[in-house]
Amino acid sequence: MKNLILLGAPGSGKGTQSQLLVERLSYKHISTGNLLRSEIEKKSDLGLRVKEVMDAGKLVSDELVEELLKANLKLEDDSYIFDGYPRNLDQAKTLTGILGHHDYTALFFKLDTEKLVERLKNRRVTKDGKYIYNLITNPPKTSGVCDVTGEPLIQRDDDKEEVVRKRMEVFEETINPVLSYYKDLGKFVEIQADNGLDKIYDEIVSKIN
Ligand code: AMP
Repeated sequence: MKNLILLGAPGSGKGTQSQLLVERLSYKHISTGNLLRSEIEKKSDLGLRVKEVMDAGKLVSDELVEELLKANLKLEDDSYIFDGYPRNLDQAKTLTGILGHHDYTALFFKLDTEKLVERLKNRRVTKDGKYIYNLITNPPKTSGVCDVTGEPLIQRDDDKEEVVRKRMEVFEETINPVLSYYKDLGKFVEIQADNGLDKIYDEIVSKIN
């Protein structure tokens, strides 16, 4: 299976679709946001260094994220879904180097900003970010509790509206060169992210094969 690079604003559905792709096809999911949050949770040196930047909705330094990514990849053994990486052109070039001879497709999840803000305000997740719900469009069966693990659902600190707007701004400033980069390489497909979960999933599967 080809590796998949998911590109899209926060809240565009990358994490949710990753979860489906992991369950139904045997991809491994790698989310730099989840890896960073887990470092913060562990109170590691790296976690302490990145917390303030993340709380403000800004990007962590390319070097730190690259280090964390490389430490968590086994490209010879598995096909990965890259979620939240790359965030800018330098990271895209770095990832091309990391992937080497391993093939990939970049999928861009397209959705307008106001819908994204609305989605993020209603997003609730498990502490590790693995299971994702939306209070309106994809609520858990029991309010406030994960259907799969039974643990409490939380709102991420950076899903509060002011931080969400900052994250959108950062995304819009940095993403266009990344999209052009993958288009020029002939590795780019667009996904209409304004559909139901299953329809988006079907579109992804039809475009990666
Ligand atoms: P995410 O869970 O992908 O929305 O990421 C949450 C936060 O983690 C972002 O707002 C950034 O502060 C940081 N982050 C995640 N991935 C990256 C990345 N590839 N480069 C820089 N910062 C990142």
